Amino acid sequence: MSSDRYPFQEIEAKWQRIWDERQQFRAVEDPARPKFYCLEMFPYPSGRIHMGHVRVYAIGDLLARFKRMRGFNVLHPMGWDAFGLPAENAAIEHGVHPAIWTYENIDNMRSQLKKMGISYDWSREVTTCDPAYYKWEQLVFIKMLERGLAYRRRSTVNWCPSCQTVLANEQVENGRCWRCDSEVIPKEIDGWFFKITAYADELLEWCDRLPGWPERVITMQRNWIGRSEGAEFDLPVVGRPELNVRVFTTRPDTVFGMTYAVLAPEHPLVDQLVTDEAERRAVADFRAEVARETEIDRLAAARPKHGLRLRAKVVNSFNGAEIPLFIADYVLMGYGTGAIMAVPGEDQRDWEFASQYGLPIIETVQRPAGFIGEAYSGDGIKVNSGFLDGLTVAEAKRKAIDWLVGRGLGVAKVNYRLRDWGISRQRYWGAPIPVLYCEKDGLVPEAEENLPVVLPRDVQLSGKGGSPLAEVASFVNARCPKCGGKARRETDTMDTFVESSWYFLRYCSPTYDRGMFERGAAEYWMPVDQYIGGIEHAVLHLLYARFYTKVLRDLGMVKVDEPFTALLSQGMVIKDGAKMSKSKGNVVDPDDLIRTLGADTARLFSLFAAPPEKDLDWNDHGVEGASRFLNRVWRFVIAHMGEALAPPQSPPSALRPTTEAGKAFRRTIHETIAKATQDIERDFHFNTAISAVMELVNALYAFEATSHDGMPAGERAALLREAVETTLLLLGPIAPHVSEELWSQLGHAESLFTRPWPAADPAALVRQEVTLVVQVDGKVRSRLNISVGTPEERIQRLALADERVQPWVRERAVERVVVVANRLVNIVTRA
Ligand SMILES: [Zn+2]
Ligand SMILES: [Zn+2]
Repeated sequence: MSSDRYPFQEIEAKWQRIWDERQQFRAVEDPARPKFYCLEMFPYPSGRIHMGHVRVYAIGDLLARFKRMRGFNVLHPMGWDAFGLPAENAAIEHGVHPAIWTYENIDNMRSQLKKMGISYDWSREVTTCDPAYYKWEQLVFIKMLERGLAYRRRSTVNWCPSCQTVLANEQVENGRCWRCDSEVIPKEIDGWFFKITAYADELLEWCDRLPGWPERVITMQRNWIGRSEGAEFDLPVVGRPELNVRVFTTRPDTVFGMTYAVLAPEHPLVDQLVTDEAERRAVADFRAEVARETEIDRLAAARPKHGLRLRAKVVNSFNGAEIPLFIADYVLMGYGTGAIMAVPGEDQRDWEFASQYGLPIIETVQRPAGFIGEAYSGDGIKVNSGFLDGLTVAEAKRKAIDWLVGRGLGVAKVNYRLRDWGISRQRYWGAPIPVLYCEKDGLVPEAEENLPVVLPRDVQLSGKGGSPLAEVASFVNARCPKCGGKARRETDTMDTFVESSWYFLRYCSPTYDRGMFERGAAEYWMPVDQYIGGIEHAVLHLLYARFYTKVLRDLGMVKVDEPFTALLSQGMVIKDGAKMSKSKGNVVDPDDLIRTLGADTARLFSLFAAPPEKDLDWNDHGVEGASRFLNRVWRFVIAHMGEALAPPQSPPSALRPTTEAGKAFRRTIHETIAKATQDIERDFHFNTAISAVMELVNALYAFEATSHDGMPAGERAALLREAVETTLLLLGPIAPHVSEELWSQLGHAESLFTRPWPAADPAALVRQEVTLVVQVDGKVRSRLNISVGTPEERIQRLALADERVQPWVRERAVERVVVVANRLVNIVTRA
């Protein structure tokens, strides 16, 4: 009988149906109650949920149900990040339209998610490929265009030849496409940008004001924004008084170590600097060579650098020295001024280049003893630096800038690594960019009343070059909204990260049709109180969403400065040492698990096996253990239904056990409440909260199995009932179906999830102390103060270790230690 599993299939289906019929998790704005917006990053509708989804949604649901029981008005929505390449690639491979593929996948995943019993408000479901959704980001695009926050320019982009599209820098990982792993190549192309750099300072400042975010995510964002302070100044070109090379440096203190200077090969000044046809050809060849390297390669640290020495020279104004000028691949046009002063003594990349090309290296900072063979970027006292000698690095920086400013040669300057967000994609399955090119008026935004610009259904997808929309005549050929004349529509679509930059706002009023969202609803629900999602989004999605929210704020649409108050980045689900993936053959299908052991087991295991921020190592024994635990809870409640069902004599909070055993058991119950609450609320240590509940269940079995002499029957029944109800309340957010079923079997008509989260009774937590007399061979030697209920073994150890007992037992062999409960300890020695 003990191997029987409780009827989880029946129970899970039953409660999913009832919760749905009652619309139990429907969120309604209620200004009288505190709100809690709990959000997991929405999924791409790939077709099937995987264990990574199970993990993140189990975490989100635990928090949503917990906060609901804590009295919050909870918004917990779900939707679909539905545009993107896989749908288009599936269309090319299998000939199925991306829309059909996407909506079928959504239907599959929705029914899978429903089998998990997550407390979503499904009435707020949002699908980003719906024109009623993307209409609003088209409108915002036009407003951004008016304010110069969206603009078009020609640029060299990262191009994935396999996906046939542009990738943002953030989407290139080790020179490869983040989605398909193909090698990325550079390409010149016209495209649309969002001016995220206009918000660089604010994005950075707010990194210090998000205490609910993990430090490592904040650090990654800070590094990505890459603010650096320094100086910008001119290096005059020798013999060409009309020409200067403008450089940016973060180390103006090192100017006396400048032994050469470098221009980006694509720097426009290069064409004016070349002296004759031979040099012009050499430059052209060099540029062609560099054009084959991606920006990512060019920035990589440990790789040989390529340079070409120009005939022109520049002057280091600080010491009057004429120094060589190079073009080299490790300097990029997009950073700073596209030119650098090279200081190989203190910059490692300059050091490598100088070593390769036999250029002098001058150290300008006193190095720690024994530091040789590379550039020294640390602190120290300035040397070989003229009027800066003897200063610290910080002092020398200030003095060098003052010197430049005083002579009108330069200025103090701040630079960022962050660049504008390229949002153009030459693909079909995305939101159309709402602009037209008129023969007469040029670039014209679509008129507001003509929105949405709907993505046409009838399209040929070959995957071969260019935007598929360019081939759709009925889409491309349009009327200019300004003059009514002939115009051609933009055929690029928006990066799907645009849709995910505001979906959390749409959930506040998902069917609102007079704007992106209803203002009052957004003011009530925003910001998201707890956001949950993978660390892989530390830069891309999270930075874009922060930027977009600030843009909406500046457009007067929202009041919040930041979209997400707190962030939890869960680890991966791994098995046999690797992330679960089809190619590695280590995938566990959530459907199989839910069918064979139930959704509650799947949820309990994924919450119990590891703290949320750590990787979760899949383990079949652990899954089996989670199932056994739920069965153990089930068996206890069913077997003791008669006793536990005894109606309580008084409300549990008034329960005052009269016996020591009763007091000790009640203390265990309330210590569990205190620990589980703290672990969940303060630390996200769901695994230790679950351990505490498991221990409570052990204590419950032990209490029931012991015949407590002198305990009134009413006290015993009331304690059992309190322990069982507490177990179910604490377990509810973790394993909701089985908890709700047992709760209802205990005779409750109301849902467990309408109950308040239990509060630890301070009276129950008080540990009562007693004084024990300690005797050695019948003579009183000491006294011990201990808590009532301290285990005998511990009392023996305390007695033997007591400093007044020690002298009497140190030299002798202890034969036995007798404990008389709450009275005395007698230590018997062999004389
Ligand atoms: Zn690709
Ligand atoms: Zn026109």
